[in-house]
Amino acid sequence: MESWPATKGESEREQSAEVAVIGAGVSGLAAAHMLRDHELQVALYEREERVGGRATTRARAGFCFDPGAQYIHGNAPVSDALLLQRFATSELVSIAKPVWTFDSQNRIREGDPRQNALPRWTYRHGLLTLAELMARELTVYTHCEIARLAYMRPGWRLFSATGQVVAEVPAVLVTLPAPEAAALMAASELPPGLQQALLAELGRARYRPLLSLALAWPRKALPPTPYYALVNSDKTHPISWLAREEEKSPERVPPAWTLLIVQLAPDYSRAHWSWDDQALATATTTLVSALLGQQLPAPHFYDVQRWPLALPEPERLLDAETLHRVSAPYGLFFSGDAFTGGRVHLALRQGQESALRLLASRR
Ligand SMILES: Cc1cc2nc3c(=O)[nH]c(=O)nc-3n(C[C@H](O)[C@H](O)[C@H](O)COP(=O)(O)OP(=O)(O)OC[C@H]3O[C@@H](n4cnc5c(N)ncnc54)[C@H](O)[C@@H]3O)c2cc1C
Repeated sequence: MESWPATKGESEREQSAEVAVIGAGVSGLAAAHMLRDHELQVALYEREERVGGRATTRARAGFCFDPGAQYIHGNAPVSDALLLQRFATSELVSIAKPVWTFDSQNRIREGDPRQNALPRWTYRHGLLTLAELMARELTVYTHCEIARLAYMRPGWRLFSATGQVVAEVPAVLVTLPAPEAAALMAASELPPGLQQALLAELGRARYRPLLSLALAWPRKALPPTPYYALVNSDKTHPISWLAREEEKSPERVPPAWTLLIVQLAPDYSRAHWSWDDQALATATTTLVSALLGQQLPAPHFYDVQRWPLALPEPERLLDAETLHRVSAPYGLFFSGDAFTGGRVHLALRQGQESALRLLASRR
């Protein structure tokens, strides 16, 4: 993994890769491994300083927490194949305590025993561990936002946000949330008709925003709970999800502290998007106090993550088959959770499936 040499000249462009994967979230990483397994040279381009996308981890003030995805479903073949086998590590843990539910009246109830019987995977030091393990053997350029593509009849030229040519490759796999993929396509030079067709399809997807807060208190302020997380069952509460990070793994939180992850519901998140972090921490503390039935003081530590494109709306998912029918003849492919729904294991699987489509198109 290396940072893209933005200050260097055009001679630095990547020319050995046969496929450029744009985005190094779990979907792009899973696709890259599948392509590499079939002996293609792959390079990944990631806008941020780290891989993982929305399955990420932050370390702040002695706490370590996941502001995005919370856990990975265990009852899926892709989870078994990747988490338990290919990228097996002693860091992987199944969260011991169950998820309980709450409603608009702050009534907390035991969760669904069938759901709670299934493993929920995470990593002792955060979900980012998975992406970092996956990135280890791959060519990944970080700090490298791809701002534009140009079709070269055949092949593709990739440009950075500063206009630098980053790569020239026969095939491209775009693994961004659909609105970001659409913006990239809108900025690109594509064969006649392709741009319109792609924008029409990608434009069908909708993503929900989400504010995620991490809030820490001395552990004595919040006694132990029989659950590790609470989920809002009637979708009418300003809080959609609340989890205790130390229940996922004690390594995440210093002794004698508790760290809550509080995800705010999409409507509440939209309405409070522009609030400053301090005001959000105060308002969220009030909501948590009401939900848990005890008056909490101001948190010792807080951190706010704004996810403008947190989760795709399940009723507006895209059809990968339709999109690839128009783009595959040009060596252009798409992956990500817009096709599957916002789940890590589904994004992993979609990455693999898109890679298989790309491989099939070369035969
Ligand atoms: C708050 C929250 C809670 C969630 N909870 C869960 C959960 O508990 N369980 C679960 O299974 N899933 C959960 N999810 C969903 C899950 O995180 C996603 O479905 C999954 O991580 C999507 O992976 P991806 O690779 O498709 O996309 P992303 O993770 O979005 O990856 C896309 C990557 O592309 C990069 N990028 C964007 N634009 C460019 C560009 N122009 N050039 C280069 N790189 C670019 C981004 O930086 C990012 O790294 C949650 C998501 C959120 C936000």
